[in-house]
Amino acid sequence: MTSQIDAIRTAILEGAPADELANLPLPEATRAAVVLAEEQEMFEGVASEDKDPRQSVHIQDVALPELAPDEAVIAVMASAINFNTVWTSIFEPVATFGFLKRLGKESAWGARHDQPFHVMGSDASGVVLRVGSAVRNWKPGDRVTVHCNHVDDQDPTSHDDSMMALNQRIWGFETNYGGLADLSIVKANQLMPKPEHLTWEEAAVNALCNSTSYRMIVSPNGAQMTQGQSVLIWGATGGIGAYATQYVLHGGGTPVGVVSSPERAALLNEMGCEAVIDRRAEGYRFWSDEHTQDPKEWLRLGKKIRELIGRDVDIVFEHPGRSTMGASVFVARKGGMIITCAATSGYNIEYDNRYLWMNLKTLKGCHFANYREAYEANRLVCEGRIHPTLSTVRTLEETAEAALLVHRNEVEGKVAVLAMAPEEGLGVTNPEMRERLLPQITLYRRFHG
Ligand code: NDP
Repeated sequence: MTSQIDAIRTAILEGAPADELANLPLPEATRAAVVLAEEQEMFEGVASEDKDPRQSVHIQDVALPELAPDEAVIAVMASAINFNTVWTSIFEPVATFGFLKRLGKESAWGARHDQPFHVMGSDASGVVLRVGSAVRNWKPGDRVTVHCNHVDDQDPTSHDDSMMALNQRIWGFETNYGGLADLSIVKANQLMPKPEHLTWEEAAVNALCNSTSYRMIVSPNGAQMTQGQSVLIWGATGGIGAYATQYVLHGGGTPVGVVSSPERAALLNEMGCEAVIDRRAEGYRFWSDEHTQDPKEWLRLGKKIRELIGRDVDIVFEHPGRSTMGASVFVARKGGMIITCAATSGYNIEYDNRYLWMNLKTLKGCHFANYREAYEANRLVCEGRIHPTLSTVRTLEETAEAALLVHRNEVEGKVAVLAMAPEEGLGVTNPEMRERLLPQITLYRRFHG
């Protein structure tokens, strides 16, 4: 297996032509970062913050399944850690094996996913090695990034906005054979062109967070921000927040970025976000105890926003959940929108509904992105208008440590994971463009090298 992977790697690095790549033998198994069904109870009784991915994530070889007609095999050059990698590795809020079982019951092809192991990972950059017989738009040798919307297009509910499909899933979270592996299996309608000016690791970190933020901020399916609108962004240098900040700036809006350190505040300033709130320095205590929120603290946040931009925000980019939702609903302007895609700090949310209905605000749920939205978001990266927020890189063997960094909120932006790429810095085919955009591309690397 190792020699076959080495031969594929060498061929990719040497720029072998498509027919040569298509004819290289594929190994029957791949190295992958997995969690195991037999260990899904291992953290019972342990507090969430103490659950350690280093105990649950294993690097091992797993057999590759037969390729379905609408799928492709990808040589994963690099992947990334997402918060769903953290959720998978600590089996929260539920272990992912239930998702795989449900998929397994749907069809014969779905049954391949129901395994005692789960290959994690919902991002990848790499090279197409094989395509199934029904794949029309992609071929071996194509350099790609992968978005994580996994949809069965024979389901009528997937034909409008595919995020509304009843069988919509997130690849590598609700399906098996994710991106944290040397080889991965994806549907052809997950593929997008790799940005030419980016390295493999820079190209690998965008799709999940960038597409999510695109839908939340830009798309009519989200808040559809217009020029001059203001947006409060929680975690504005985090995985999704750092792309949200870029979209608000790029779309002519005013971001009000919330972060938790002076270093992160300075980073926001460098991105062009002038209105910044350091939540730790301000010492907000939205919850006075486990059961009670303090509206005076919401008011204090609202005043701070008015001080910074002279008005209330039109949109709140919400994802921390329980800890912030009361404040988010309060500070949105009359008629404004709170758009939410997550609940990192707790999903049983409480807010004062009077502020919502009396002020005609909208609370809107949002989740990843359809293929069109992901493709548009990827195009903006390809054109150098939106930039990767890569701050640090680890190897596949270090996946668990990388997930722990994100779990503990110790990194800004994104953590990439090298799979088949032997080192950082490879994969660029448009060096002139890269040179021109280097300061923006590498802005997040200052913290962790
Ligand atoms: P990150 O950990 O990279 O960033 C989140 C940021 O939020 C942190 O950096 C932190 O910034 C801030 N934050 C964390 N906890 C709190 C809190 N209690 N109060 C205020 N701010 C807080 O995660 P991601 O950005 O990648 O993901 C965020 C959430 O969104 C996760 O729950 C994830 O699962 C979800 N998600 C959902 C998607 C979807 O499609 N539905 C897609 C992608 C992510 P700071 O400390 O600087 O304030």
